[in-house]
Order: sequence, then C-alpha cells, then structure tokens
Amino acid sequence: MLGAIGLTAFILSNPVIAAPEVKPWLDSSLSAQKRTVLLLTRMTDDEKLKLVYAIQGTDTNGVPAPPKALQGASYIPELSRLSIPAFISTNAGVGVARRYKTGATALPSQMALAASWDTGLARRAGAMIGEEARNLGFNVMLAGGVNLPRDPRAGRNFEYSSEDPLLAGRMVGALIKGVQSQYLISTIKHFALNNIETNRMVMSGNIDLAAFRESDLLAFEIAIENGRPGAVMTGYNRVNDVYAGENSYLLSDVLKGDWKYPYFVMSDWGGTHSTVRAVMAGLDQESSGNTFDSQQFFLGPLKDALKNGQIPHKRLDDMASRILLSMFSFGLFDHRQSIKPINFDKDRKISLAAAEEGIVLLKNTDHILPLSGGERIAVIGGNADIGVLGGGGSANVIPNGGNVGPDPGPKIFYGPKTYLPDPPLRWLQKLSSSASNIEFNSGKDVRSAASLASRSDIAIVFVTEWSHEAMDRPSMTLPDDQDALINAVATANPRTIVVLENNVLPRMPWLSKVAAVIEAWYPGSAGGEAIAKILSGQVNPSGHLPVVMPLDETQLPRKTIQAAGRMDVMAITMLQDQNIFYTEGADVGYRWLERNNLTPQFPFGFGLSYSRFKIDSLQWRNDKFSAVITNMSEISGSTVVQFYMTPPGATRRLVGWSKVTLPAHQSEKVQGIVDFRTIAKFSTQSDEWVVAPGQYDIAVGENARDISMTMKASLNEQILPP
Ligand code: BGC
Repeated sequence: MLGAIGLTAFILSNPVIAAPEVKPWLDSSLSAQKRTVLLLTRMTDDEKLKLVYAIQGTDTNGVPAPPKALQGASYIPELSRLSIPAFISTNAGVGVARRYKTGATALPSQMALAASWDTGLARRAGAMIGEEARNLGFNVMLAGGVNLPRDPRAGRNFEYSSEDPLLAGRMVGALIKGVQSQYLISTIKHFALNNIETNRMVMSGNIDLAAFRESDLLAFEIAIENGRPGAVMTGYNRVNDVYAGENSYLLSDVLKGDWKYPYFVMSDWGGTHSTVRAVMAGLDQESSGNTFDSQQFFLGPLKDALKNGQIPHKRLDDMASRILLSMFSFGLFDHRQSIKPINFDKDRKISLAAAEEGIVLLKNTDHILPLSGGERIAVIGGNADIGVLGGGGSANVIPNGGNVGPDPGPKIFYGPKTYLPDPPLRWLQKLSSSASNIEFNSGKDVRSAASLASRSDIAIVFVTEWSHEAMDRPSMTLPDDQDALINAVATANPRTIVVLENNVLPRMPWLSKVAAVIEAWYPGSAGGEAIAKILSGQVNPSGHLPVVMPLDETQLPRKTIQAAGRMDVMAITMLQDQNIFYTEGADVGYRWLERNNLTPQFPFGFGLSYSRFKIDSLQWRNDKFSAVITNMSEISGSTVVQFYMTPPGATRRLVGWSKVTLPAHQSEKVQGIVDFRTIAKFSTQSDEWVVAPGQYDIAVGENARDISMTMKASLNEQILPP
C-alpha cells in the first residue's frame, strides 16, 4: 500500500495516471494548437506510435479488416484512454468508394467537375460527398487528386482535374474545402508527379525542379492554399529517383518548408519503403502497413529506430502533433462518429448539377442540337439502356441502386466495371414528346445499328471507355472497335451525334463525318438525366475543356507509354520503363502544343453553347484584368470568360477566368486579379518567383485559341516569396 506522500509522489511521476478523467484537450473553445499541445504531453510513446500507423480498412487478399473500419480504406482504432477518435478513412474524389459496399452518390469525374470551371459548384460537390462519408461513419476522405494530366492515355485522368495548375488548384481546392466543411479531413494526392500509372510502384518521374514548381507543384500549392487539406498523400512513384514517400525535397523542403504546411503526410497504400529514410524525409503516417507495404515500416521498426537514436523523439512528437492538429482543426474530436441515413434525392441533385455544368458540347453542325422533340431517334451502343459508366479502381463508387453493368470486369482490385443506374435512354424517352419514336440498338452488331440509323432522323451513338488506376491506355483510340461503329452509323446517317462516356478525350477519326459530339466524361449518378437534358435543350451546355484535345499521339511529348495496357503493373518486379522524363517541363498540354506549333483537335478551354457570346472591352490596370461579355442570342446561357497572358518568349497561359450566366442579350463586366505565379519563373537558386520585366500579351476568349481581344502590358520585374 502506498502512503499519502507515496501516493502523491507516484501521481506526480505518472501524470498519465494522475487525473484520467480531466481531458482539457476536449474543450472545443481552445485553439487546435493548444489542444494538440495539451494532448501530446499526455501521450505515451506507444500511443503516439499507434497514431502514426494505419491498418487496411477493406478485406484484402483474404485478410478481413476490422468491422469498425467499415470496409473503408484505412483504420486506426480509437485511443479511448485519451478520447482520441478512431481514424476511419474512405476513398475518394467523386464519392464514397468502397469495393464491397453499395449506397453512395457518385459525382461526375473530377475532370467533368473541372470542366464546369465553377469553384462554387466544386465546393458544394465536395460538401455532398463529405456529408455522405460522414453519415456513413467516416472521418477521413481520400479525395483531392490534383496531379496534372500530362498524357491523355493515363489511366487516372478522371480522378484528376486540369492540366493547367491554376484551374486544377482552384477547382480541387474548392472540392477539398467542401469535403472538410463536413467535419472530415480530406487528403490532397498524389504528391507528386504520379501522372501516369504504368509501373507506378517503381517508376521515376523526372523533371527539372524549376519546371516542377511551375507546373505540378504549383497546382498542389494553389489547391493547398484554397482547400487547406488536413492531409497530403504521397505518390507511389519516385520523383527524380527518390520515392515520393521518402523524398525530403518534396515533403520537407517544399511542403513543410516553403509552404509551411502544418498538417500531416500519409503514404499511399504500398507507398512506404523504409522507416528512417521515410520518417526523416517527412512522412508522418504509414497507410495500411499491414497489407500493402513490403513489410511493416512504422510501429515496431519505428520504435526500434527511436530506441537506437536513428530517429529523434522530437520527430515522433512532430508526426503525432501534425495528425492531432489536423484532427482538432477539422472537427474530428468535436463531431464524433454518428451514422445517419443519406438523403439520396438531395445528393443526386448536386451530382446532376455538376454533370450538367461539366458536360462539354464539342461540335454542333447546323444546330442539330438541341433535338427538336419529334424526331425518330436511334439510340445506339454504350449500354445507354442500362446506365452510365463510372471510373474504376479505388475511386469506383458503387452507387445507390448497385452496379447495373452487364460485365463485372476484373475480379481483382480496380474492378468491378461499374454502370450507374441512370440510363440516358430512359431519360431521353421521358423528355421526348413522343417516346415511341426512340428506338435502342446495342451497337454489338454494327450492321443492324447502321440499318436502324438509316431508318431514323437522328442517330445518337453512345461510346464508352473504361479506365482505372494501375494501368494506362496504350493509345488514344477508343476500345472495342467503337470507331467502326461510329463510322458505320455516320455513313448510314450523317445526322449522327456522338456521346462520349470516358476518362478523357480519345482520337476522333470520324469527327468530320458526324454532326455533333458531346463529351460527358464519367457523368456520375445522375449522368443519364444530365446527358438527356443537354441533348433535348432543357439544359444549355456550358462545360469547357480543362485539358487540350490533341489530334493524336504524334502531338504528345511522348509518342508511347512503354508497357501501357499491361495488367500486371501492380507488380514491383516489372522493371521496364522505370524512368519518365517530363521534358515538356511546365509546358503541359495546351502549352506544349503551342510551343511546338501544333493545332489541336480541340483547344484547352473549348466548349460550345446553344447561346452565342461576344467578348470585348478588355482592360488591364494594376494587375487587374476585365472584359465585357454579352449574350448575343435569344436564349439564356453560360460561358467561361478566360484571361490569358504570354510572358516574353514563352507560351500563353491561363491567368484567370469567370464563369458567367447571362439572360438573352444581356452584358456583364467580369474581372479578376492575376496570380503572378502563373506567369513567373521559379528560381531554384534564390527559392523565389521572378516575374521577368518586359512586354506581356494579354488575351481574352472563350478558349485558349479563339481569342476575342488582345492587348499588351509592360511589366516591371517582381520578386514573389516562395
Ligand atoms: C490509390 C489511392 C487510394 C488508396 C486507398 C491506392 O491504390 O493510389 O489513391 O486512396 O489506394 O485505397
């Protein structure tokens, strides 16, 4: 038995035991920083070690995940002694994505959302998927893909946003902000240069550091400023030879150094490769270390490294406090798990709005669209009678209503191939004045499809291209001979409209033969309705391409992706093509084509409307630009007024935009302030942004090539802090 003095001494030397019921860090009136410090001082090393190590949240390779992980992505059990909530994460950027669970609303692909150029919409969309994740019991969402789509064949483009760092950064930042408004942590990912999938587990993306800061890293920088994500997920790949998950340039110098990022860095699933190197480079949490990594690197091995002095204790404190700061800042302590029913009707409306704004009308010869209503219409292909296609891999949302696809696709990860139950055919029939005039043909038999087209006034061909992580497409050509189908139908009836449901724009060898083309991306849970409303004119299209559409592979910086299309790319043993040299540097996409005097199939920023607009009165004063946009037509519509600047001797780049909706014949003045980083060069010597002095071209238009007005401005040299 301890005497009174002995008990006091015992308590003082064991503060953890002293007052277990007093938990001042639970006081929500204190700042997140204060609460973090209060809690950290009460934690044992073992507790800190638990916080930096997550296990797999889904049943994987016969290993069941703990039930409380909810078949999510990663899981850290609650630390009840300290009332630290469990960490329960789920995928991903277009909705709650769980392989073995249905019941979530899918947004259209992130690229579709970017095609809306509407940050308010992206925020609402983020809030919708965040709220669903919350109501399903999660408090971390692995959203926020912002790698620049540098190649139209890359498998994950649909999870990314735009090739332009300003558009990508602002749109993804807004999405993250929306997710986190629901008391969740959102990630931003995959930091960085994880732009292609082939050989992603070992491939080194190599790039000049200044160009890196001006392109992919600028997109991350802007998205982090706008969205304040509570976590950064590293890429699988190596960056300039060093794994992203143990790359001190990325994690310590840039992210936590220059950008002063206060929260934590987690690895991708299978993306941790060491203990000391990773931790000392800046990795704060190992994800699913029990399943995907070649061995477990944190927990036990981390404890050993602390014991033998390879990692200082203060680094463990830093790792744990970054995680706690994020959990406090984004409401995880104050808004504990409470599972609630989802309001699918409400959420579907957000997804519908996103699809309606993101669908891009690419061609519309002789105003064939919108449909007049009384035509005999042949609807062909793309399983348009069943649903709309969704992207695969970890972002694959199994929708409310389940996967209705006829072909489940691969059984292994990145399957199933999911169709969302919102068939365009049903919506077209619903919106038509004479549904009996609409006939469906599966497109499997090209001849019968062409024959139906020849008997119809209009043929609408739905084409699909399924894509997912871990694999790229070997070419830009549509799969399954769909080009032949389109050709045959368009030959039978030139009044052919093509609707694309895909990752990103394919080659279009049939473009001149068809009358209209609609890029519907993966259009999400209300995709069928959105497509039908655009076709029928109930919605006036307003999406603009967030990427350039090159004519074909010859216009790309790399003509091939070696080994693309191979199904075994998850295997670390595949050693070909380990290096990608991003020699285009910061001239990604439309800037690359301009640099090489190449004319794209469709320019960056392109998108048609059923209205007609005119832009004039371009002005530039004190870093601010403005112009006047007028709707010249009889119908209300929306467009994107895009401002570009060209630094002396460089390529044109987007410096701002305004998405405007205008009633018939109305005008509006739009304005913005230039973000100088878009036109500056990053000096790796002085670690600063430098705006070169000289004459800059300023341009305004509805896309990057069809410019309405230009002017020149003289800029003085400016140095911006990193
Ligand atoms: C993907 C991540 C994803 C993670 C968890 C990985 O394969 O690259 O984006 O969040 O799995 O499922």
